[in-house]
Amino acid sequence: MGKNTKGKCRFCNKEFSRVSIIRHLSSCKARKNELESNHGKKTGYYELFITDKYLKDYWLVIEIDETLKLKDLDQFIRDIWVECCGHLSSFTINGQSYDVSPSEDYFWGPPPKNMNIQLKKILNVGQKFEYMYDFGSATELVLSVKGYREGYSQKDKLIILARNNPPEIICNFCNNNFANYFDPEAEYFDRKPFICTECIENNQEKIDYDEIYLYPVCNSPRMGVCGYEGSTEYPD
Ligand SMILES: [Zn+2]
Ligand SMILES: [Zn+2]
Ligand SMILES: [Zn+2]
Repeated sequence: MGKNTKGKCRFCNKEFSRVSIIRHLSSCKARKNELESNHGKKTGYYELFITDKYLKDYWLVIEIDETLKLKDLDQFIRDIWVECCGHLSSFTINGQSYDVSPSEDYFWGPPPKNMNIQLKKILNVGQKFEYMYDFGSATELVLSVKGYREGYSQKDKLIILARNNPPEIICNFCNNNFANYFDPEAEYFDRKPFICTECIENNQEKIDYDEIYLYPVCNSPRMGVCGYEGSTEYPD
């Protein structure tokens, strides 16, 4: 895996690391110009940094209207990174969990609340909170509230300010081409999980690929998990 993936600032198109992007966004001239050219009604925006709890190569910086709800954030995360077959998901904020439809059967802690709640009622700058999609083969994310600003209301209530470039993953067989496919079972059993199209065609190791489930390499921490094949709404 490419360590420390970079990502492009949506406004000036320059590349930054996950560490420097937040500071850049607060001083980006192109962003300033764009924001100043807006006018009309005002609203508040949170700036959120979102990353996988373990796979730090995957990260997003978004700006989200404070009047949106937790369930809108949930929908966005599903659309861009995780949705495979409609599993349950949940946020944990200050020890309180928020579910799509809270059930009466909870095992520990205070009873879950509903995600149908406005962000401005629960988020504060400096806060960190967690998200889990699919309690079986879970994808776990960490979200940090990096900033808050008041500004003119924009057409899109949720904007991606920056996203990591797809990590450059090399084929484990030729050690040369970028990998096109991922075999989750191979990874689980400590075999070579990444392969390129050329190596599949040449198949020098005489592997029966009909017997193997290969998933396209995609720009998401959920690649291959429960058959996840990437986002159609937000291409890599
Ligand atoms: Zn910029
Ligand atoms: Zn699934
Ligand atoms: Zn190869």
